[in-house]
Amino acid sequence: MTDSPGYLALDVGGTKTIGAVVGTGGEVLASARVPTPTGHGSEEVFEACVFALEAARSETPVSAIGLGVGCGGPMKWPSGDVSPLNIPDWRDFPLRDRLADRLEVPVRVHNDAICLTIGEHLLGGGRGLNNVLGMVVSTGVGGGIVADGQLLTGASGNAGHIGHVVVDPTGPKCSCGGRGCLEAVARGPAVVGWALAQGWQSVDPAGESLAASAREGDPIARAAFQRCGNAVGTAVASVAALLDLEAVTIGGGLSRAGDLLLPAVYEGFERHAGLEFLSQCRVLLAGEDAGLVGAAALFLAQHRYWSEGY
Ligand SMILES: [Zn+2]
Repeated sequence: MTDSPGYLALDVGGTKTIGAVVGTGGEVLASARVPTPTGHGSEEVFEACVFALEAARSETPVSAIGLGVGCGGPMKWPSGDVSPLNIPDWRDFPLRDRLADRLEVPVRVHNDAICLTIGEHLLGGGRGLNNVLGMVVSTGVGGGIVADGQLLTGASGNAGHIGHVVVDPTGPKCSCGGRGCLEAVARGPAVVGWALAQGWQSVDPAGESLAASAREGDPIARAAFQRCGNAVGTAVASVAALLDLEAVTIGGGLSRAGDLLLPAVYEGFERHAGLEFLSQCRVLLAGEDAGLVGAAALFLAQHRYWSEGY
């Protein structure tokens, strides 16, 4: 019996890497998660990717049509040479060519936030809509934009960097060199850092424990999510006004604390989205598997914005 056709998907993050098998309808059939190695060189990270993919494929064998990869930016596109800010061991790492050589399948690599946007546009909360912003709120804050039914790529393939929309000109310094960018306020480590600076204490100062504290009613932890969500809502209102959006879908690590984050996002959005046409813009959480579905969607989607033949 031959294996049924499907896709492989890889979501390479700064702390974890997930390999998956995705069916032809965009459903995740199997997945395997491994920690992303840090400080051991580029090959260790690459082998972790291969291990995660092979572990998923051993669970659900599939005749792979292609492998879609979501990875942090910046990257050269569409060559798929990556230099993700959240993975210092990879600089100009030829991820697409290395994976294609090893796994002997066609490989497409794109920014993880772009992948999420495509997946949500195709199969998630943005399905059937023509004007959608997809966001990843995690170690960093990224985004992708579908406008009038087409993915916006911009001059260099980098359109959608909502993380560097300024929400507070007097706010904290940003890794881009600016000040008060959304990412500088709302990225996971910044939210935790702000809480610690206000006096929040934890043996495990990370996003999950901050969320647990907030759910227990800790006022500083609650304020930290409030501040993060308000900043996201503020930036989203600006982008929604600029692009006349129909939906915004939010994924990434912090979106797992959606019960804490979304009310504050709505509040920030409402405060700044005064124009009448913005009342139809929905803000919602992305699907849990959005990153993987989105990576596979690099093959699922028949958009004109990636070159064929690789
Ligand atoms: Zn910035």
